Amino acid sequence: MARAAIFFLLFLATNASLALLYPFTLSRLLLTFSIYSVGTLLTLYLLFHPRNQWLVANRFRVDGVNTIALTFDDGPDPVDTPKLLDLLRDKGVKATFFVVGKRADQHPEIVRRACAEGHLIANHTWSHRLLFCFLTPARLRSEIERGAESVRRICGFRPHLFRSPVGMRHPLLRPYLNNAGSEYVSWTIRSRDTLTRNSGVLAQRILNRAASGDIILLHDHLPRGAHVMLEALPRVIDELRERGFQFVLAGPREDAAAATLEPAASQTTR
Ligand SMILES: [Zn+2]
Repeated sequence: MARAAIFFLLFLATNASLALLYPFTLSRLLLTFSIYSVGTLLTLYLLFHPRNQWLVANRFRVDGVNTIALTFDDGPDPVDTPKLLDLLRDKGVKATFFVVGKRADQHPEIVRRACAEGHLIANHTWSHRLLFCFLTPARLRSEIERGAESVRRICGFRPHLFRSPVGMRHPLLRPYLNNAGSEYVSWTIRSRDTLTRNSGVLAQRILNRAASGDIILLHDHLPRGAHVMLEALPRVIDELRERGFQFVLAGPREDAAAATLEPAASQTTR
């Protein structure tokens, strides 16, 4: 909680520095600009940098030699996630799905299928609020808890891994994740599949950067569809395999009972 308090003080001091503008002089303007810029940059760094550990400890690599973890955020999507699951099954690749609880509740059969096929299901909050860093404490707790509960209802176990919307931190995230028994997982490669319209460019961007231990951020639900990612992925998987990489989950599966899930679940979304 001490770090949360320091963060709030930084935020308040940065904005309070604007009072230095009055009475206005050029030297005061330069002083205010300097303080405000440094404070704002530091605030943004603490809130947004994917590998920053200060507000909440987070894991951004996987263990092992020549390992790569594919992670898919924002699903399940009724159209693209089943296609992705087909692709991963055909390639024999296991991946980690950071699901949005609200969407998981709407399409539980897809999440159940992913779980039954050996993928890892993780918590990406209940409703994916884009202003995550401004949530009230009660709302923050609810976003974490309801997201976790959704996965528990569908898969039969509480997810251990958590990732916030856009990887954004919240000053109270550390104590709340500790209470929930969850671990924050970030990434080393942001594929920018949310912006890229060309599958060749997307594949090449990932292949240019991929190294052992990387966690790659991708999305199986996008407003305009995830077809670019789905077109790029086979080449990414094949070329990384040729280089000797193996695909691993972003963490251990919580349940030992996954194999006992109804096999019929894997047929429901075809
Ligand atoms: Zn997201």
